[in-house]
Amino acid sequence: MLNATHDPSLTSWVASANDGLTDFPIQNLPFASVKKRGGNALFSIGVAIGDQVLPLAPLAKLNLAKGLVQEALQCCQDSTMNRLMTLTPAYWSALRADLSRWLQTGSAEEAILSPLLFSQSDAQFQRPCHIGDFTDFYSSIYHATTVGKLFRPDNPLLPNYKWVPIGYHGRASSIDVSGQAFHRPKGQTKAPNATVPSFGPCKRLDYELEIGFFVGQSNVLGDSLTMETAEQRLFGICLLNDWSARDIQAWEYQPLGPFLAKSFASTISPWIVTAEALAPFRVPFTREEGEPEPMPYLDSVHNQKFGAFDIQLACAIEAKNLPRTQLSHSNFKDSYWSIAQMLTHHASNGCNLQAGDLMGSGTQSGPSLEQAGSMLELTQGGKVPIEFENGQQRIFLNDGDTIIMTGHCEAAGAVRIGFGEVRSMVLPAKA
Ligand code: MN
Repeated sequence: MLNATHDPSLTSWVASANDGLTDFPIQNLPFASVKKRGGNALFSIGVAIGDQVLPLAPLAKLNLAKGLVQEALQCCQDSTMNRLMTLTPAYWSALRADLSRWLQTGSAEEAILSPLLFSQSDAQFQRPCHIGDFTDFYSSIYHATTVGKLFRPDNPLLPNYKWVPIGYHGRASSIDVSGQAFHRPKGQTKAPNATVPSFGPCKRLDYELEIGFFVGQSNVLGDSLTMETAEQRLFGICLLNDWSARDIQAWEYQPLGPFLAKSFASTISPWIVTAEALAPFRVPFTREEGEPEPMPYLDSVHNQKFGAFDIQLACAIEAKNLPRTQLSHSNFKDSYWSIAQMLTHHASNGCNLQAGDLMGSGTQSGPSLEQAGSMLELTQGGKVPIEFENGQQRIFLNDGDTIIMTGHCEAAGAVRIGFGEVRSMVLPAKA
């Protein structure tokens, strides 16, 4: 699984990639749909290196590569990643290998590539691909148990949870990249002691700290995936803030699950870290003692050894008169279901997953309170306010609040890589 691109001794001729602090050393090489701000440049696929962006569209014309890499570079001239995602891992891996060679210290390609670079501070991003479908899972048992207790104190974890990777079909049209600002949603809610519902701006607006994962390659309608083929379908991972209107959710969610409480905005980080870049940070998929084994179609030796990803997640808030303050941190390795299990289960009925489909992991909460991935959990259902150093308080989010999520990976013998950030702001409800 590891190859020359993961070598921790590799450095780049782009100096900012070697400072030991950047999310984007040469071992990462994530993709985004990006252009230089201003002018009349068009969006195309770029790769992050240090604090710079290398646009890949011009490389197709430079005849630097042949075969698989040249075909992959042709796809990078598109404004979206769908065509690149449709290729197989052999193409993605060959492209990564050449990008790594071209960007490393002493490369003969430095003279050709360095004039193409532009700073990430001058970059404008858009959604990385056309997202045909968005599915959100519920893979943190800690989140499911805590939230279940709030909604159903006597019956927090429903009996299917430990057998089925639970999810729901979400809304793709309202997904945008980091920088998204959206209006507080309005909707129908019913206070516990009210006799009839009312309609108005959401009063319990929340974030959800999640990872997103993108499907590459499609499966034909009617075909399923195996745990092995599911691994080949994972293109890459981003950060996802799945904004949630808790008061709308509480009133509408039974019997069919989330609807308008989730469909008004979801924000993703622009850079997609590839499955291959994450190889050094894969860890065994484990469950606590006494938990049931996954059913055979959701189990594999590979999953047992490498199914989980050690991704450290964090969430912070910024607002007027409120300096950036950490709210929560958790780790995707605590997930009750692995990505391969979620993809395999999703296609187990013959559902055709398509290149560019986005899957959400569900809110990632860890076992302790400060590892809660939403305000609903941090405030114990809105009962215990979060107190900030300057005396401000929050139960749920105010207009003007900005939520910033970050993620990174560390492992012995590997160079730290990161995901950048997903940042988005709440605007007042529209009249
Ligand atoms: Mn969610």
